[in-house]
Order: sequence, then structure tokens, then C-alpha cells
Amino acid sequence: MKCVCGTEGWKVKKITAGSHVNPEYWHLLSDDLHFCPNSDCDVVYFDKRVTLTVREVKTKVFFKEKGSPKPLCYCKQVTEEDVVEAIRKGAKSVKEVEEMTGIGNGGHCVVTNPSGRCCRQFYVKFIEKMLEKAVSDGDGAEKSSECCRTDRG
Ligand SMILES: [Zn+2]
Repeated sequence: MKCVCGTEGWKVKKITAGSHVNPEYWHLLSDDLHFCPNSDCDVVYFDKRVTLTVREVKTKVFFKEKGSPKPLCYCKQVTEEDVVEAIRKGAKSVKEVEEMTGIGNGGHCVVTNPSGRCCRQFYVKFIEKMLEKAVSDGDGAEKSSECCRTDRG
């Protein structure tokens, strides 16, 4: 089923949506709810007659979230900021980040993750991107002080 934004959604269980939607909207939940994976779209859950947006959903949806902290792993409460911090502290691989942050291995994604899917497929991509960035940037701290110096004039 397609969202109003045109993105093909994936089906979520009622128990998934029920865990994240504000209780005042529970009566709108059906067995045909879909999740919209488009990060630019405010719709989180929809079916043929109902659309529930980030305003009706109490849980921050990681990739629809513009501010921080951005949740990555809901079972273990690990955020993007935690992953960046682990890499700054010396984690060099996805496995090392997993060990340092405790990300993944929760096993409750169907309830805790608003997408109803395992967080691993999302966070592995993010960790890989951040590891690559850490390598190509060299020391990130140096860069930001350079920027401040420019500001001073
Ligand atoms: Zn959408």
C-alpha cells in the first residue's frame, strides 16, 4: 500500500503501532496499518482511511527525526550520538561499536521500534557511514576548532 507521499509502505502489526501511537488515537488502529519509510514524510502509520503523523506518534521515529537525540536502537536505548561518541573513543568496526554501546541484540524491535522492523538494518548503515567519515575526516575535533578560528576573523 502506498502512503500519500507516494512511498510504498510496509505492513506493521497492531501491537507495534499501539506501542507508539498516543492512546487517544488507539481507536483508529486497524490490522491493515502500514509504516511509511520516507524520512521527508510526516506520516508514520496509514491504512486506507487513516493517516497518523509524527504528531500523533509519541515515539521519535529515528529517520524522520530532525533534532537530536536520534534513536537508533529502541531496545537498548542507543542514539546516533552514542554511536558517534563510541567512534570518537576508538571503535573501528560495527562490531566494536556494538560492543561499546550495547546496540542491537534487544530482540524486542516488533514492539519497541516504530517501524516494526529490526533496528540492525538501519543502524549498521549509519555506523558504516560514520566510520567512513571518521577515516576521511581525520580528527574531527581539529576541524571544528579550525572553523571557530575562521569565525573569530
Ligand atoms: Zn509517506
